[in-house]
Amino acid sequence: MNTELLSARVLSIQPSPSMAANALVVELRAQGRDIINFTIGEPDFDTPEHILQAASSAMHNGDTHYTSTSGTPALRQAIVRKLARDNDLHYGLDEVVAGSGGKHIIYHALAATLNAGDEVIVHAPYWVSYPDIARLNEATPVIIPGDESNGFKLTAEELERAITPRSKWVILNTPNNPSGAVYDRAELLALAAVLRRHPQLLVMSDEIYEHFVYEDARHLSIVNVAEDLKARTLIVNGASKGYAMTGWRLGFAAGPRVLIAAISKLISQTTTCPSSISQAAAVAAFAGDQTPIAEMREVYTQRRQRMLEQLSDIKGLRCLPPQGAFYIYANVSGLLGTVTPDGQRIESDTELVAYLLQEGNVATVSGDAYGMSPYLRLSFASSLEVIDEGCRRIAQACQQLR
Ligand code: PMP
Ligand code: GLU
Repeated sequence: MNTELLSARVLSIQPSPSMAANALVVELRAQGRDIINFTIGEPDFDTPEHILQAASSAMHNGDTHYTSTSGTPALRQAIVRKLARDNDLHYGLDEVVAGSGGKHIIYHALAATLNAGDEVIVHAPYWVSYPDIARLNEATPVIIPGDESNGFKLTAEELERAITPRSKWVILNTPNNPSGAVYDRAELLALAAVLRRHPQLLVMSDEIYEHFVYEDARHLSIVNVAEDLKARTLIVNGASKGYAMTGWRLGFAAGPRVLIAAISKLISQTTTCPSSISQAAAVAAFAGDQTPIAEMREVYTQRRQRMLEQLSDIKGLRCLPPQGAFYIYANVSGLLGTVTPDGQRIESDTELVAYLLQEGNVATVSGDAYGMSPYLRLSFASSLEVIDEGCRRIAQACQQLR
């Protein structure tokens, strides 16, 4: 079969660059290469024991059937209570839906609302999947360029300028992947004032990194500061990051009843429901002991510090300390135009990534994937030993650039 039989929709998108970068590491390791992997954004921790126990009991007690499309009542109840406990946000059972990962929820939310030609406003640097999920649904992603000098944050003026009569969604992501930006109350209030002037706009608030914030940063949702926007905001979150459960594929959304019902209808025709076992596990995650989160945050805090220290010694790299998530988005403009030992000129962040992988045996993702160059994204969801060794390799490879 050739690609002519594929849909225009699928031909319009790329495989997820972070997944692709990780897949390349797996392939190179299978060939015997010793690669340090700073690509993928996933906790290296195992899922906490009490969550495993809940999944095991579910399996043995017959929780092995289809569930209701939007998630079991027990899971929706746990999500509702979690939102009240952690976020001071109050939703009913019919205002939340569980899906097979946050990505699945985002896909279904956009598929449930977008018509051809609609615009989805995304601020760079952005998580890789937003623009392609918009494209898959025949919408146009409208990218607002980012600005490192204001901490990579979307401003009210920039948002106002990007809104057109075709705008359907604006996607906010705090804490942000890849920049680590965390929006404070004043910044969210300023965005809310703009959104109030455009009542046709839906707001997606991706809060999947809420638990990982550093120093004096605090996670807030736009709905915390602008209760009136609750009627058209979809909060997206999940178990993947906070509870080290990426492989369980369990995400959720909270929002207006009509939208939640539309997402559920779509799920009933696509995946039916999330895995019953993962749902049982997620009940234990959201409703059970929360101390593993604090422990993981403590470990990430040390790793963030270590990676920042090590990278700050490398000439040509500049890092803004991330306020949240588990990535460093390093500015590499100081390395562009340099020449590798075999005479190749590094013209872009993508070429730098290739050089570091080839010569330094360390894998990163280029800023190009996140809509903002020249940067490298480095995940610090790895042990201190791996961070030390990876940074040592980057330093050594960079030293050889002339
Ligand atoms: N949003 C952001 C910003 C992410 O980084 C991720 C991680 N892939 C997701 C959503 C989706 O995560 P998952 O599908 O594992 O819930
Ligand atoms: N969110 C993770 C990352 O950005 C997982 C990969 C993906 O979903 O594309 O690396």
